[in-house]
Amino acid sequence: MDLNHLLDALLPSWTSAAMLLAFFVYLAIVGSLLPGKLVPGVTLSDGTRLHYRCNGLLSLLLFVLLLGFGAWMGLVSPTAIADRGLELLSTTFIFSFLATLALYVFGCKSRDRSSSLKPHVTRNLIHDWWFGIQLNPQFMGIDLKFFFVRAGMMGWLLINLSVLAKCIQEGNLNRSMVLYQLFCALYIIDYFFYEEFITSTWDIIAERLGFMLVFGDLVWIPFTFSIQGWWLLSNKVELTTAAVIANCLSFVIGYRVFRGANKQKHVFKKNPKAPIWGMPPKVVGGKLLASGYWGIARHCNYLGDLLLALSFSLPCGISSAVPYFYPIYLLILLIWRERRDDARCAEKYKEVWEEYCKLVPWRILPYVY
Ligand code: NDP
Repeated sequence: MDLNHLLDALLPSWTSAAMLLAFFVYLAIVGSLLPGKLVPGVTLSDGTRLHYRCNGLLSLLLFVLLLGFGAWMGLVSPTAIADRGLELLSTTFIFSFLATLALYVFGCKSRDRSSSLKPHVTRNLIHDWWFGIQLNPQFMGIDLKFFFVRAGMMGWLLINLSVLAKCIQEGNLNRSMVLYQLFCALYIIDYFFYEEFITSTWDIIAERLGFMLVFGDLVWIPFTFSIQGWWLLSNKVELTTAAVIANCLSFVIGYRVFRGANKQKHVFKKNPKAPIWGMPPKVVGGKLLASGYWGIARHCNYLGDLLLALSFSLPCGISSAVPYFYPIYLLILLIWRERRDDARCAEKYKEVWEEYCKLVPWRILPYVY
């Protein structure tokens, strides 16, 4: 694609704006109407506690069903997203920019600022716009942070399905595309199956909602995590059986570590006496779990996530670095994130954290890092 074509394809359009709006309206409606477990969030730094309706899986399945029915009736094109990928990208980017400007303005006006804000920080306009002012802004009863991450994860699956439809339409379906689609779909469905676990993650409990998070959720997750799918549309890969086995192993081990670690921490937070791997948990200072995955490394969940990310790229073979964008980016992000989380925990837990670090010296990968 030459530069002129690229710029043309990137031009936002009213059709893509309407598609994006319809998606958000659907999510807002079903998010409040469909049944789902009402999960109390952790107590936030300002002492408040939010409740989240975890009906993401139902919302997703219903949406895919409705789109499938629409496609069968000839009302929507299954390749609509794949055909408009770049203009949807620019439209979503513009939306994220405008949404964070609105968040900034409302955040400034809001008297009820998060108590975690330091006064000198709030005076820096760019900083506040980038990192956000409010911890958990609400709009028409919707928790925007929870809403945006849900939109991003669903958007990723919708992009993938549309890319799959295009691949089938072009008669190019192969093992690589099937593996990529399968692993991502399992990961996304699993995310929504365990949606309540997100309510105790760092993003939800500690990160303010600004451009970084909105852009991350709405643009970065769906559009960059799907690079491998787009790449496979125009590149043919022949995988050996050994490569397929290695790929499946990376997914299965990554999934077990990722889900196992996140689950153990979630269960521990709800009930600090709950057994870990069938044994009473080892607890530091009555606050930190030091057994199970949390006794192997301080962020085994990141290790699992990295293996999963690798499994999404391995179907593309090793002829190009482009499909490895996601695992490379995730490696950098998670190392940075682990450092920030470490600093936060050191400040919060003080000597208890020191004791935990002595007991579990490895950050992400035992004997390496
Ligand atoms: P964690 O789920 O690891 O949460 C960190 C928090 O957990 C800490 O701040 C602390 O919070 C608590 N904690 C830390 N150690 C312990 C312990 N030993 N026992 C009990 N509590 C502990 O991190 P994230 O929220 O960053 O990540 C959640 C998941 O999301 C991960 O699996 C990660 O890989 C994934 N992720 C994926 C991204 C992607 O782009 N694919 C991006 C970011 C995250 P507290 O103050 O509550 O105790």
